Amino acid sequence: MTMKHILLFVWQLPQHILGLLLRCLCAGRCRAVKRKGAAVVFFIEHFWGGICLGAYIFIDYTLINDQRILTHEYGHFLQSRMLGPLYLLIVGVPSITMNIFCRILGPQSRFSARYYQRFPENWADKLGNMAEERKLF
Ligand SMILES: [Zn+2]
Repeated sequence: MTMKHILLFVWQLPQHILGLLLRCLCAGRCRAVKRKGAAVVFFIEHFWGGICLGAYIFIDYTLINDQRILTHEYGHFLQSRMLGPLYLLIVGVPSITMNIFCRILGPQSRFSARYYQRFPENWADKLGNMAEERKLF
């Protein structure tokens, strides 16, 4: 482990603590683990979509071949690296809040249909797609 890795781990410490907790909580349902660049991706049975907590990405196992969600979560990974301790406040809170509204209103609602067009989801898509195009991992 290099000094860069240590500094990045500390820079994103709140996300990493939550990510390690979630990893422990989901350990029995983890069906596959992949690496995507510097991120570790856990595919979990009976998960609720995807979430990125620092270098740890969690995705529902049924989405294991869904490149779009992997690219999107990788965009959140890049946001986490940029924002460090502010990630949960700037990205996590609005993302989870919108996600809850989408679940309440249902997938067919107009609000849900525009989920990925709003901040910070549109930014995650943009960063993830840029990383894919430039093969940054
Ligand atoms: Zn997202």
